[in-house]
Amino acid sequence: MFNSLSDRLTETFRNLRTKGRLSESDVNKTVRDIRLALLDADVALPVVKTFTHNVRERALGAEVSEALNPAQQVVKIVNDELVTILGGETRGLRFAKQPPTVIMLAGLQGSGKTTLAGKLAFWLKEQGHTPMLVAADLQRPNAVTQLEVVGQRAGVPVFAPERGNIAGHDAVGADIEGTRSHGDPVAVSRNGIAEARAKQHDVVIVDTAGRLAVDENLMQQAADIRAAITPDEVLFVIDAMIGQAAVETAEAFLEGVDFTGVVLSKLDGDARGGAALSVAEVTGRPIMFASTGEGVKDFEVFHPDRMASRILD
Ligand code: GDP
Repeated sequence: MFNSLSDRLTETFRNLRTKGRLSESDVNKTVRDIRLALLDADVALPVVKTFTHNVRERALGAEVSEALNPAQQVVKIVNDELVTILGGETRGLRFAKQPPTVIMLAGLQGSGKTTLAGKLAFWLKEQGHTPMLVAADLQRPNAVTQLEVVGQRAGVPVFAPERGNIAGHDAVGADIEGTRSHGDPVAVSRNGIAEARAKQHDVVIVDTAGRLAVDENLMQQAADIRAAITPDEVLFVIDAMIGQAAVETAEAFLEGVDFTGVVLSKLDGDARGGAALSVAEVTGRPIMFASTGEGVKDFEVFHPDRMASRILD
């Protein structure tokens, strides 16, 4: 991911003189090249505009530096601006003062939510937490089973709406409070959290339904779940390969479920990825994690500064 953006930016910097001061026309040409590189990488237009405006202002105003030549100065400015659009500081998960911490996952179908649920649970477990997964995606026939498989791989129990043990796995039933909650994702989510509290799991990850495109019913369902369980974090999972639709989708989910953080999935793909890079800037929500493959360990905390360095490497 970002290889071509990375190559284009490197090429732009290579053309900069290494001595003296940058003329206005040097700056203008560089900014134009950066603009094209970002647009070709699918970075959203408003983000490109802000980005290039800031780079231009700072490059023109840059002091003659003893330590950095003009090319290095521009690289530093572009690096700083990349860190800014990627959200600035790394933002870790917010844990509840009173466990369990509730994390709700939202996003389009196929975005990588269920896979992410397993990765996040596995990562939390490695850090000494005792997570539990809740299968509140009742839209897709296979979603509950898929989450159970994911939970089994991560070694984490799954609260599912119907009793059913997958070999060797202690899936728990949802038949508490005397009600069958099958079919009602809000009830499943609530019951799952009650179960987690009773069994002293300190984090609950609630997987919700997604559709192939933003859909009012789906959004209402996600909003209802959010209202019922008041999660500590709502993570919006977005496939980095989605292209230009990323921004629109993110805006719809921001309005629908007011997510608190973003997870970029499929960062291991070779798509241009720039649209996903726009999501933090457009929504004002931090990118918190990245998914980089199908395995349970293909997951990392997202550090804006490290990602910027990777792009400019
Ligand atoms: P959901 O519908 O949002 O729950 O999406 P899934 O978790 O079922 O993922 C959809 C597909 O994408 C599955 O085939 C996953 O194996 C795959 N997938 C999920 N995350 C990643 C990732 O980070 N990289 C790659 N290459 N594939 C992924």
